[in-house]
Amino acid sequence: MLYIGSHTSYLKDKQLLGVVEESLSYNSNAFMFYTGSNQSTLRFPINHELRDKAHALMKENNIDKRNCIVHAPFIINLANDSDEDKYNFYVNFLKNEIDRCIELDITKLVLHPGSYTNLDRQTGIENIAKGLNQALDDKEGIELLLEYMSGKGTEVGSSIDDLKGIIDLLHENVKDKVFVCLDTCHINDSGWDIKDFDKFLDEFDSKIGINKIKCIHINDSYNDVGSHKDRHANFGYGTIGFDKLINVVYNKRLDNIPKILETPWINRNEKNTYAPYKFEIEMIRKKEFVDYINL
Ligand SMILES: [Zn+2]
Repeated sequence: MLYIGSHTSYLKDKQLLGVVEESLSYNSNAFMFYTGSNQSTLRFPINHELRDKAHALMKENNIDKRNCIVHAPFIINLANDSDEDKYNFYVNFLKNEIDRCIELDITKLVLHPGSYTNLDRQTGIENIAKGLNQALDDKEGIELLLEYMSGKGTEVGSSIDDLKGIIDLLHENVKDKVFVCLDTCHINDSGWDIKDFDKFLDEFDSKIGINKIKCIHINDSYNDVGSHKDRHANFGYGTIGFDKLINVVYNKRLDNIPKILETPWINRNEKNTYAPYKFEIEMIRKKEFVDYINL
């Protein structure tokens, strides 16, 4: 079964209900959102009435909450513990974000592993595992998905070995709560041609286990294989291209895994800017490219 959706906006006045309404307007049956700004840790209280209305609307439209994802803000960095106060702040913020997911009754949380900056990669890996062990130790009902990254700057998580390194250092009770979110743009930018996606999955399966993959971001890329840039392009408009992306979406080994578009909004001019998701989802369902941007 195809579960496809996109990034959506969680705004103060409508919260999760607004997310579900926006998703339905794109004909999605999956979605992802930040519980506030993706760049800051400012968060407002969850309105339970809106939450309950949102879940009722999901039920009415056959949206299973297993295909709904929260993305943690970018600023959490567990890879570097040089500044102990900062590191503890990030661990505590992650704990709060997990509690917010549980309060919203959303069970999947995607996290960027982090950047080691002035340290080294192996220390970064150890710091991430340390932070996850602290943050997840007493949490139940949550699946934390480490995102596969493009390898921009000193990012950790831009190889299967990085992710394996983190997972191997987790305590047994935490390991069961940690999974992986892939991203086609990041895989491309990290050095894998998406035409070899099955080879990527073979290696992932032998080192980590394919059952650990719980979500995949479906983005085209503006850059070449191995560029380590991380600039998402619209579906079929980048260097990966429509056919290779369609093959990932319909790969039998990832059947039932939610596919999430994080492609950029279309900017025709100041007054005419709109989300691409309705068009991209229609193309994906029909498996047919339509040059909707230039129509
Ligand atoms: Zn991400």
